[in-house]
Amino acid sequence: MPCPFCDRISSGPLDAENELAVAFADAFPLSPGHMLIIPRRHVEDYFALDEAEQAAIWQLVSQVRTRLDAERHPDGYNLGVNVGEAAGQTVAHAHVHLIPRYEGDVPDPRGGIRWLLAEKAKYWEQG
Ligand code: AMP
Ligand code: ZN
Repeated sequence: MPCPFCDRISSGPLDAENELAVAFADAFPLSPGHMLIIPRRHVEDYFALDEAEQAAIWQLVSQVRTRLDAERHPDGYNLGVNVGEAAGQTVAHAHVHLIPRYEGDVPDPRGGIRWLLAEKAKYWEQG
């Protein structure tokens, strides 16, 4: 099966890279600066990566975050990993989403990733 992320590793451009992982902009960004950090090796499940690959990914997350801070000055971030179709994964090459957030980008950001299950997001309104 062709993999768009393996293609991207081959053809570039890449925004950051190390021995085991690379980073590039999401093609359909949720917010300005939305980045994906992925292992070089084609593995679908984040938890199937070895420790060195996981460490390499998180090293790039921090590196890219430093650059985003300097270039775009976001007010916050969401970090996300969809693992499996049931969790919403649509590209079968493990990846971490690094999503800059900006004050006012939604009317009420409280809960952040809790909005994955929107009906339960507002825990502060539950008894
Ligand atoms: P997920 O649903 O967690 O698997 O996320 C896949 C992400 O990949 C989505 O945010 C897409 O916008 C992004 N995406 C899909 N195809 C490409 C591509 N060819 N290059 C860059 N990002 C892509
Ligand atoms: Zn791949």
